[in-house]
Amino acid sequence: MSATVIDGRAVAAQVYAEIDARVAALAARGVVPGLAAVLVGDDAPSAAYVRGKAKACAEHGVFTDTVHLPADIARERLLATIAELNADRRFHGIIVQLPLPDGLNGDEATRAVLPEKDVDGLHPVNLGLLMRGEGVLLPATPSGVQQLLVRAGHDPAGKHVVVVGRSNLVGKPLANILMQKARGADATVTVCHRRTPNLADITRQADILIAAAGRPGAITAGMVRPGAVVIDVGINRVDDPTRRRGYRLVGDVDFEAVAPVAGAITPVPNGVGPMTIAMLLANTVTAAERIEGSG
Ligand code: NAP
Repeated sequence: MSATVIDGRAVAAQVYAEIDARVAALAARGVVPGLAAVLVGDDAPSAAYVRGKAKACAEHGVFTDTVHLPADIARERLLATIAELNADRRFHGIIVQLPLPDGLNGDEATRAVLPEKDVDGLHPVNLGLLMRGEGVLLPATPSGVQQLLVRAGHDPAGKHVVVVGRSNLVGKPLANILMQKARGADATVTVCHRRTPNLADITRQADILIAAAGRPGAITAGMVRPGAVVIDVGINRVDDPTRRRGYRLVGDVDFEAVAPVAGAITPVPNGVGPMTIAMLLANTVTAAERIEGSG
């Protein structure tokens, strides 16, 4: 058996087509959705992520601006900047790019964003609503995984989903999304982590196995049930002197070994990654529709 490779770019293109239609409907009412990004310091991957988000905004009619603050900015100044953006009517969505430099508290910054502008879906109010099955602004990567599954023909309803990873950013919200009594969910979800004994015994029970561990090679062929759907959320840099930049990006799944066993699998890059930015834009449009009213 050889797995079908799920093309995250093709699925993201569907999401963007829907975003374009919603942006056009807002434009007809004179509303331009706006996304503000707060970037603190000069971490190269963070700057690259923010550039990627800004490019997607520009391509899909979403106004965007990046507030770039120095790494040694005072906590009060950072919070004041977020407060200004909360009050700025040009912006319906605000993201604070994490991680923040040492000395600044990412959780505090996340909590400072108004829940209705929290398009990363990480504010405790939005995570609480998600847990209750009332979520509107869902964290982008987990909701991107859900959309990828549903749109690629792997509806999680009635399936056993095993999530490896329990972070607030990915694993916990993903498990919550997929366990809801709702369309595109209704799964039986098991969450694994570093203290899970006999991990392979559990992952082999998965109809859908989702790797969000941040460890290259964490999922090997022996951990996958033949025919399972394998979603690789991991994005890890590994040294590669043959590359000009000296590294390459890999997921958590040993793709070459697992692809012959799995029924379907996402690659890295171009699997979950493109969905994350698409869902961030979708959230920004949702926030604009809600803040500006239905017209
Ligand atoms: P994180 O905060 O480091 O959390 C990793 C989780 O995986 C933890 O719960 C950890 O368990 C668990 N884990 C680590 N090694 C494990 C192992 N060997 N066996 C079982 N569980 C293990 O990472 P994150 O923020 O959730 O991100 C996870 C990965 O997704 C990273 O590679 C990140 O770059 C990637 N990511 C990708 C996107 C995207 O757009 N595609 C977006 C966000 C993140 P403990 O809780 O016990 O420590």
